[in-house]
Amino acid sequence: MTLANSSDCLFCKIINEDIPADIVYQNPKVTAFRDINPQAPTHILVIPNHHVDSVSQTEDSDTFSHVLSAAKTIAAQESLTDFRLVINNGAKAGQTVSHLHLHLLSGRPFSWPPG
Ligand code: AMP
Ligand code: ZN
Repeated sequence: MTLANSSDCLFCKIINEDIPADIVYQNPKVTAFRDINPQAPTHILVIPNHHVDSVSQTEDSDTFSHVLSAAKTIAAQESLTDFRLVINNGAKAGQTVSHLHLHLLSGRPFSWPPG
């Protein structure tokens, strides 16, 4: 897949297959792969195939639709019934990679409020 377009972005490099990842799902709009530092038994990142920094920088609602819809599909694919979906927006909220990504976490109990 060669849709990503930011040469210095880690997740664009994954989409472009410049660096390896354990990809679990891909369609023309999104790619999903296992987090390299999992915070739960299942920890998958769902990202758009085009580069956009964050929720705040996303200008089309279709991107959100594709990412969330893929998360639902992947949860079913992985036979997950209970899961948490998280998007960190901005450094103070915990965002460390500036390519929009949805965390799909499952396989253990989650507390609320989050840390
Ligand atoms: P965030 O902190 O919300 O920006 O999430 C970024 C996530 O990307 C973290 O959970 C990292 O463990 C994960 N991550 C960083 N590098 C890689 C990589 N090469 N492959 C898979 N996941 C990664
Ligand atoms: Zn990117």
